[in-house]
Amino acid sequence: MADCVFCKIASGEIPSQMVYQDDAVVAFKDVNPQAPIHILIIPRQHIPSLMDLDESNAAIIGHIMLVAKNLARQFGIDQGGFRIVSNCGADAGQSVDHVHFHLLGGRSLQWPPG
Ligand code: AMP
Repeated sequence: MADCVFCKIASGEIPSQMVYQDDAVVAFKDVNPQAPIHILIIPRQHIPSLMDLDESNAAIIGHIMLVAKNLARQFGIDQGGFRIVSNCGADAGQSVDHVHFHLLGGRSLQWPPG
């Protein structure tokens, strides 16, 4: 989508600290990290939010979870633990309308979240 910052990151139009990419997904470091490890994992396909998913997207979401698991191991947070978050909508604080999953770790994470 032309004016989507995450589409532009996926295409390389906007630079990022990319840590993984394949035909379907891209992962890059969050520009405003909330934990020592804070990586965003996105589908290349522009899907605005979790509420826009349907059965045709089931495989990509499963793939993103496996990418998250592999990145957790690669960045050394698999043993200590980590969190995967997807904010959906205004009350959750979603600020970029391209579905994304935060991979957070490297410190003790509080529960419940704010
Ligand atoms: P959310 O608030 O859940 O929609 O998450 C959006 C995230 O994208 C925030 O944590 C931002 O810091 C991050 N973000 C926005 N623009 C960029 C960018 N150009 N590169 C990396 N991360 C970004």
